[in-house]
Parts: sequence; C-alpha cells; structure tokens
Amino acid sequence: MYEAQFKLALVALLLGDAGVRLYYQRGCRGFKRAVVKHERREKFLYYLVGMGLIPIFFYLLTSWINTFRLPFPAGIRWLGAGLIFAGDLLFIWSHKALGSNWSPILEIRKGHTLVTDGPYRFIRHPMYAAIFLIGIGVSLLSANWIVALSYMMPTASLYLVRVSDEEEMMIGQFGDEYRQFMTRTGRLISKLRT
Ligand code: SAH
Repeated sequence: MYEAQFKLALVALLLGDAGVRLYYQRGCRGFKRAVVKHERREKFLYYLVGMGLIPIFFYLLTSWINTFRLPFPAGIRWLGAGLIFAGDLLFIWSHKALGSNWSPILEIRKGHTLVTDGPYRFIRHPMYAAIFLIGIGVSLLSANWIVALSYMMPTASLYLVRVSDEEEMMIGQFGDEYRQFMTRTGRLISKLRT
C-alpha cells in the first residue's frame, strides 16, 4: 500500500539525477576532442545503459512487471531511497569537480586537465561509484528484480570493459601525474591511510 510513495520517491530522486546530467552535458558542448578511444564500443555501452533504464518506466507506470517483485520490507526500500540520495550527492559532486572534462565516452578534450580534487581526492571513479550506489538504491526501492538486473548488468559491463582502458588513456595523456594519482586513490573505494 506504500507502493505509490516508493514510486514518488524514485521519480523525485531520479529526476534530480537527470537534471544534473543535462545541466553539465550542456556545459560540455563545443569542446574539441584531442583523443578518442573505442568510440563505437563506448557509444554502444552508453546506449545499453540507457536502455537498461526502460524497465524503471514499466515499474512506475504499468503493472506489467509486478510478477518480478521482491518481498522487501518497507525499511529496506527506504534504505534504497537513502542510497539513491547519497549517490545523487556524489554524482553532483563528481560532475562539479570534473566540469568540462566530463564526457559520456572515452575521450581527452583539447585543454583537458587532470582533476584530483573534490571526490577525486579519495577515489579515481566517483561518478561510476555514484552510478553503482544509485543502482543498488533503485534495486532496493523498486523491489523488482527486472528493474535491478536491467540497471546493474549494463552498468557493471560498462565499468568492467571501460575502467582499465580509461586509466590507460589517462596515463597516455598525463603520464606520471596520473600514476601518482593512482597510488593515492582507490578505484571506487578510498584507500585506507596509515
Ligand atoms: N571515471 C571517472 C570519470 C567518468 S567520465 C569517474 O567515474 O568519476 C569519463 C571521462 O572523464 C573520460 O573520458 C576521461 O576523459 C575523463 N576523466 C576521467 N578521470 C578524470 C580525471 N581524474 N580528471 C580529468 N578527467 C578525467
């Protein structure tokens, strides 16, 4: 009977995300590319992630995927909302720090700078960490395994296929500066300092 509230929370939290992405995407237009890697593969993966979001609309607007419900208690579902909110904050923070260096595919822009502040002080891939956090949150809040799998599988594939190539590209561009950055930071989780 709380389903409408869960749906409302999901819409509000995801609209916030979409707004942030659109806002920063607009700010990145018009920059010239210096290096592009695996463009077709990267575009394909990016669209795959986009398509993985479609079941969220089915969950929100229809009863077609109700058979795939997971019996989560309300507390777990609100925990999901909290995780999406935390992911949204990390997503905004990462976008703000990366500025015009952000791009949906693997590329280096003319005038690209290496960002090592904001969340990049702790981890090298805060945006991917945010996307995972949001995915776990969406899975718990929607309590529907079709929604969960179709979000998490393309996202995990994108991450696994991309992350080493991204780091290789960054080393190619920034050399020792990036290597040092790698020694200070973890990929998704901060290194413990002693
Ligand atoms: N992997 C990062 C960024 C994702 S956006 C994260 O999860 O936060 C992908 C683009 O960001 C890549 O094409 C690359 O050019 C750029 N990029 C990745 N790390 C960067 C950094 N530390 N500084 C500047 N640009 C970076």
